[in-house]
Amino acid sequence: MNLILFGPPGAGKGTQAERLHDAYGLAKLSSGDMLRSPGTLNNLARTYMQRGDLVPDDLIIAIIRGRLNQKDCARGFILDGFPRTAPQAEALDGMLKEIRKSLSYVIELKVDDRQLIERIAGRFTCAKCGAVYHDSFHKLKTEGACDACGGTQFSRREDDKVETVARRLESYHRQTAPLLPYYKGKGVLQTIDGMASIEEVTAKINAIVSSGSNKNAAKNS
Ligand code: AMP
Repeated sequence: MNLILFGPPGAGKGTQAERLHDAYGLAKLSSGDMLRSPGTLNNLARTYMQRGDLVPDDLIIAIIRGRLNQKDCARGFILDGFPRTAPQAEALDGMLKEIRKSLSYVIELKVDDRQLIERIAGRFTCAKCGAVYHDSFHKLKTEGACDACGGTQFSRREDDKVETVARRLESYHRQTAPLLPYYKGKGVLQTIDGMASIEEVTAKINAIVSSGSNKNAAKNS
């Protein structure tokens, strides 16, 4: 099963990708995490990311290409944050063809822009394992300790500031949302209400992926 989790920044793609990874053993390919990882981030990419702009297509396409060819993707993968532009979507089609795979579902998490700003502004991450929390919507069970690994250090992303978030949302609407009709045309798009609780969204995603409701879903493709 090969999935794209689609939606604006703050829609909950990362949280749901983590859950899909745990539940189905799919490789989690988060383009933002890959760009932020110390070995990858070059100064050029950092400048774009700090401004809230998309990094150049060639750079992210090369990173995803390398990652898709790794062994753990053979069992299936979840793309989180890629593709974000038409050239990226085209490049992904080419890469999938090369490795003889196809998309099972593109799952869109639909969220209201005003809520997104609120969601993103309260977000923080465990510095040790990367688990994502929120001041209001996904609090730590024990204050000061990560639910997943017990880590006690947390960080907030530099590009989660309100001004930068507005720019990231603008580029979502201008460059990324226009890909939705493309995936609808391929018969793989499923849209769910991303404003529901994390548990409800997970339940809806599980219902989609276990329904086998499109022609590619049943194949190990
Ligand atoms: P994310 O963690 O998905 O919100 O991504 C954080 C930042 O990384 C974005 O605001 C972009 O600057 C950059 N980025 C992540 N994925 C892509 C992509 N597919 N294309 C271009 N830039 C990306």
